[in-house]
Amino acid sequence: MIYFLQSQLNLIIIGAGPAGLTAGLELIRRSGIKPLLIEADAQVGGISKTVVHRGNRMDLGGHRFFSKSDWVMDWWRSLMPIAGGDAESMRIHYHRQSRSIQSDAVHGDSECMLVRPRLSRIYFLRRLFDYPLKLNWTTLSNLGPQRVARILASYAKARILPRQERNLEDFIVNRFGEELYRTFFKDYTEKVWGVPCQDISAEWGAQRIKGLSITEALKHAAGRLLRNTQNATRHTSLIEQFLYPRLGPGQLWELAAREITDRGGTILLGTRVTGLQRQGNRITAVDIVDREGRRQTIPAEHVISTMPVKDLIAGMNPPAPDDVARVAHGLLYRDFITVGLLVRRMKRHPGDADPDRTVGQRLPDNWIYIQEKDVRLGRLQIFNNWSPDLVADPEGTVWLGLEYFCNVGDDLWSMDDDTFTGFAIRELASIDLIDPADVLDTHLVRVEKAYPAYFGSYGDFGVVRRWVDGIHNLWLVGRNGMHRYNNQDHSMLTAKLAVDAILGGDVTRESIWAVNLDDEYHETIEHRKDQPAQSPRSRGDGAA
Ligand SMILES: Cc1cc2nc3c(=O)[nH]c(=O)nc-3n(C[C@H](O)[C@H](O)[C@H](O)COP(=O)(O)OP(=O)(O)OC[C@H]3O[C@@H](n4cnc5c(N)ncnc54)[C@H](O)[C@@H]3O)c2cc1C
Repeated sequence: MIYFLQSQLNLIIIGAGPAGLTAGLELIRRSGIKPLLIEADAQVGGISKTVVHRGNRMDLGGHRFFSKSDWVMDWWRSLMPIAGGDAESMRIHYHRQSRSIQSDAVHGDSECMLVRPRLSRIYFLRRLFDYPLKLNWTTLSNLGPQRVARILASYAKARILPRQERNLEDFIVNRFGEELYRTFFKDYTEKVWGVPCQDISAEWGAQRIKGLSITEALKHAAGRLLRNTQNATRHTSLIEQFLYPRLGPGQLWELAAREITDRGGTILLGTRVTGLQRQGNRITAVDIVDREGRRQTIPAEHVISTMPVKDLIAGMNPPAPDDVARVAHGLLYRDFITVGLLVRRMKRHPGDADPDRTVGQRLPDNWIYIQEKDVRLGRLQIFNNWSPDLVADPEGTVWLGLEYFCNVGDDLWSMDDDTFTGFAIRELASIDLIDPADVLDTHLVRVEKAYPAYFGSYGDFGVVRRWVDGIHNLWLVGRNGMHRYNNQDHSMLTAKLAVDAILGGDVTRESIWAVNLDDEYHETIEHRKDQPAQSPRSRGDGAA
């Protein structure tokens, strides 16, 4: 297994997820450099891959394609046309942003992006609540008069007798009252992160939940009521939409990989980077091991890394300074298990305030947050509603994704696949969403390090960053590659900026670390789809 790099520059990219593939393709398209991508997994796409099981496709987490960056939107379209008409221009709206897109797919094209409507709701008290949570009739009637009275009373108490703010719980209780905190924040946050809200700093809440208040919500609800009264027929709310590859996110990343290899780049699958050889402030080579256990050291002039920072630093030879190694070692992650469940039907749901929206045998949502306290299930994906082509028989079956947040080695992670799948089916049945007799097939996928945690040693991350920034030919990009909650578009932008710098002979990393710092958090009081409720903004953390 000897790899001779054919590039003018021995450029190695660690990881063939969105960041690594973007870097690889940008290099080839813009410079002709033919990079070597080294990917531990047997397929490309990273967390954004599509897993195929007997003709049914799973998206690990449900990946919306939407970016406020024109560059990203154009880049996606350079790989996949958008379905919907003949060179038709349209606007799509998402999270209070609006983008103009050009639909240019040929009718029937299987390699295209669909424009999908977004619907996601919260399942709580065996009922469906709007997401983001709205102060409206559905919410009030779902909660019931007693709970609403308790919410108002505890809110009043919190305003009159605020707590000293030592942690996230204090922070939220002071702003929303104890009852609302216990109803909508506490359990989901703890489910996602596996730590009590008292162990999370109040500052996180300040960064995460800023700008929200009950008073504002009341004003908003009153305004809406007034507008509706004045003009009952005018619809002011826009349907949110996002782009979605017909066969799931991995389809787009597989096309990126194909272009890389067609144009002379190399992608080694099933091959893990185990170490980086260093001479002073330069990386000289990368150690790899393939699935047969064969080891090799490959010389490198530049390395773009998307592997977890913790592993990267642990693999430095000679080792990183003690303080850097200590902080990197203390970085924490949250892991993830998802169970694909093929069922004949979902239960027709009395808790759906609008049962007419039920499509065929299923609820109409793309995903549903499971807020119920009696199960450990965190979220439910309904893959048919992302793209019917994810499902072998989209009319006759419903393909679900049950998502659990866990830590490697904990009780959930330690269950064998069959035990876990049985447990997941029982949970979904216990909250009245399916009948176990309707289950036709299952598939379980484990995802390590799905979420880089903003606790553990993260507060000192600047120590690591300063040291790696001093290694002139090493470029940290992506999500775990930078230990940051980067979505696909952020990961891609960091990769592009690294390529810009390499091709331009630049050595500064400021612009790369600045990606995803100023993003507005558009989520409301509890959680963004892929990000836990208490996630802080990156600004103000050790990395910035
Ligand atoms: C539940 C969930 C939902 C999400 N939803 C969305 C969404 O709706 N929209 C969106 O845009 N983003 C979403 N994201 C984020 C998106 O998945 C990531 O931003 C994106 O996949 C990050 O790309 P990346 O290349 O930086 O990292 P990854 O996708 O993690 O890829 C890194 C790659 O490096 C490989 N690797 C790691 N270590 C090594 C090693 N030592 N040697 C070789 N290879 C290695 C891994 O196998 C992997 O393939 C979601 C994430 C999660 C967890």
